[in-house]
Amino acid sequence: MGIQGDAVIDVLFTELIIKYLKSQKKDRIIGKYYPSELPWCLRKIYYDYTIGKDKDLESKLVMVSGTLMHSFISDVLKFARSEGINAQSEVEYEYEKDGIIISGKADNVILLRSENDENTYVVEIKSKSKLPDEPRIEHIMQLNFYLHFNPNAKGYLLYITRDGFNMRAFEVNYNEELFEKLVDRAIILHNHIINNTLPDAEYWHGECLKCPYRNICFSVKKSLNSQS
Ligand code: SF4
Repeated sequence: MGIQGDAVIDVLFTELIIKYLKSQKKDRIIGKYYPSELPWCLRKIYYDYTIGKDKDLESKLVMVSGTLMHSFISDVLKFARSEGINAQSEVEYEYEKDGIIISGKADNVILLRSENDENTYVVEIKSKSKLPDEPRIEHIMQLNFYLHFNPNAKGYLLYITRDGFNMRAFEVNYNEELFEKLVDRAIILHNHIINNTLPDAEYWHGECLKCPYRNICFSVKKSLNSQS
C-alpha cells in the first residue's frame, strides 16, 4: 500500500478510535464521586460535572494504555487463581455520607491471599511512562479509600512502566485522617456543584497543562486579578 493508502487507514482508525471512546463515555451523576478523581484539582472535577469537556486524544490514549495494562493484570490474576492464590480484581467499594456516594471503580484493586501467606494485599496499579521515586499523595489517597474497607490489609501502590514493564512498589498503611479528608473533598465538591460556585484552582497537582478547561480556568483567574 502506498503512502496515500497508509494515510487513509491512519485517519480511518483514528476516527474509529475517537468514536469508540465517545460511545464509552458515561454520564456523570451529581452526588456520585470517584476516589480516583477526588484527590486531584477540585475545580477540574467541578468543570467535568458542569461543562463536561472531552479530554484531548493524547490524554485519552494514555488512559486506554492504562486500561489495557489493568486488563492484562486481571488476566494474570485469573491465572493466579488456577495456581491456588486467592486473587480478585474489579472489587467495588461504595461509601455514603449525607446522601453523597463515593464509589470506587476499583478495576485495579487486587486482593491477594495465598495458601502460605494469610495476609491480604490491596494493590493499586498505576501505569506510567517512568517510575517515580516517591508515590504521589493523590494515588495514596485513592488506595487509602480502598484500605478503609480492608483496614488490616497491606496496601501497595505498584507503578509499572508502559513500555518495558518495569515495576516499583510502595507500601501504604491505612490512614483514617486521609480517608476523612477524601470524604470532606467530596462534600466540598458537591456543595460547589449544587450551589453553582467555583472551587479554588488547585494548580499544585500539575494537571493544568493537559486540562481541557485551562482557558476558562485561567480566564477566571485573570478576571479576579483585574478586579483587584
Ligand atoms: S487548569 Fe489547572 S487549576 Fe484550572 S481547573 Fe484545570 S487543573 Fe484545575
